[in-house]
Amino acid sequence: MATLEIDCPVCAEVLELTDADRADLSVGDVIVCDSCNAEMEVTRNGPGEDFELELLGVLTTCPSCGEEFDVTEDMLAEAPIIEAEAGHVASIVSCPHCRARIELEFEEAE
Ligand SMILES: [Zn+2]
Ligand SMILES: [Zn+2]
Repeated sequence: MATLEIDCPVCAEVLELTDADRADLSVGDVIVCDSCNAEMEVTRNGPGEDFELELLGVLTTCPSCGEEFDVTEDMLAEAPIIEAEAGHVASIVSCPHCRARIELEFEEAE
């Protein structure tokens, strides 16, 4: 059985989709990265390598109120960035539920 490998656009984890997985997916479905909880919408699902995803956001659980929310690229674009430990930067986003400020850390891309 053919397996399609997709790199997560957020954490670069390889997501493996078998033919059976893809048979269950249609355009508009959302898949979630096991590793970083990024949500991606299927925008193409044709035969062979004809498969495309669009990043929707990263599902985050607020440490303050416990609600889940999506961090989108738009939110990150507006979020202030602070330097955390060496080699890491953190973006500050606000929880839409309780307005807590949450630091999201990313490893700086090479
Ligand atoms: Zn990921
Ligand atoms: Zn919250």
